[in-house]
Amino acid sequence: MTNGLIFDIKEFAVHDGPGIRTTVFMKGCPLRCSWCHNPEGISPEPQVMHGPAGERVVGKRYASSELAGILNRQAEILRTNEGGVTFSGGEPLMQAAFVAEVLDLLDDIHVLLDTSGFGGEDDFRLLAGKSDLVFFDVKLIAPAAHRRYTGVDNGPILRNLRVLATMNVPFVVRVPLIPGVTDTNENLAAIAETVRGLDGMVRVDLLPYNKAAGGKYRACGMAFRPDFQETLEVNANTAIFEQAGLTARVA
Ligand code: SF4
Repeated sequence: MTNGLIFDIKEFAVHDGPGIRTTVFMKGCPLRCSWCHNPEGISPEPQVMHGPAGERVVGKRYASSELAGILNRQAEILRTNEGGVTFSGGEPLMQAAFVAEVLDLLDDIHVLLDTSGFGGEDDFRLLAGKSDLVFFDVKLIAPAAHRRYTGVDNGPILRNLRVLATMNVPFVVRVPLIPGVTDTNENLAAIAETVRGLDGMVRVDLLPYNKAAGGKYRACGMAFRPDFQETLEVNANTAIFEQAGLTARVA
């Protein structure tokens, strides 16, 4: 029995997949996206946040059976509302053994894996193989730009994307639109070219930059240093994907 570190469990979520869902936010992420709007999800350790209501510790350990019990008690209402459970973060692949244990203990509940795709292939296969739907982030195709803006190489991400296309698990490619960084026509065309023809892909979701992203950094004792122009309008160019024969929408 393993333990997992979770920084939030959000009930009645309506933006984290089909229907009404409970979203489990796993704490810890290997990426350092300069636009991250969940800075409290990055550290793989519990931490103190200083909010308007005072200090609170973010990050709570759960045994897999404990979390599965919480989720199973909600199964009926989630099923009734055509929803399920979403594992997000942070990055669920960082705690793959724990998430897999929880998934094995779940009753009949729709499971969505929301991932950056960055992780070992075995961990990725393990979790994607136990999921009904995957939200897979694709941020930047140019390797140097990916390293610059996220702190990691995109090789493992693109490999796991190709693996996913062999697994018979439906997936949505999610592209965060960061002004002047990910939303350039050049990058969007490169993403369209990369994902075109992948088996199992349902559609591409373009996610406009969340201008409130910086709000929680100070509370976490971190500095928000976006190296892009936050105020620019994003280029939500779905046509690039449609011209490549793909279904795309602004989510
Ligand atoms: S992958 Fe997601 S959680 Fe991780 S740093 Fe980037 S935006 Fe934040």
